[in-house]
Amino acid sequence: MTTEQNPSTTTKTAAADSTADDPTPDQPAGPASVLTCPECGKKNRIRPNEHGTPHCGSCGKALPWVVEATDSTFELEAKSSVAVLVDLWAPWCGPCRYVSPMLEELARDYAGRLKVVKVNVDQNPALASVFDARSIPTMIVIRDGRVVDRVVGAVPKTDLTVRLMPYLLRRS
Ligand SMILES: [Zn+2]
Repeated sequence: MTTEQNPSTTTKTAAADSTADDPTPDQPAGPASVLTCPECGKKNRIRPNEHGTPHCGSCGKALPWVVEATDSTFELEAKSSVAVLVDLWAPWCGPCRYVSPMLEELARDYAGRLKVVKVNVDQNPALASVFDARSIPTMIVIRDGRVVDRVVGAVPKTDLTVRLMPYLLRRS
């Protein structure tokens, strides 16, 4: 899971990376996340993009989109043209550790159709309150800026996939 075929790419300049790293004046840049391409191992620095989905700057494959958000960056990260799965978690939470790799698998299975936004509730109490995350893990599904589903607890991957499926469908 943590194998890095090409760790030397981390030292490359931002200019050599994805075009999504190039902020335009009418769009706030937002925090960069490093997404590793499962195809070629390249590390891509990707900023929030509400119109598209990230692709590998090296091989062009859709990247599994998993980012971490905070109370201050969440609004920007949650704006997306694809379904957003928010994972409200904490380091001390055992079931969260069960769910976490599952969400990374889903991001990989549905690259280009899903964005996973991880929120540490201990560090981001405002979001924990907004989403009423009294029990974790709590997973919130957001589509077009609206909360469309909510899953509480460590559910099996198949169950979570079924819940997500209506929001993963491509639109024509
Ligand atoms: Zn690649």
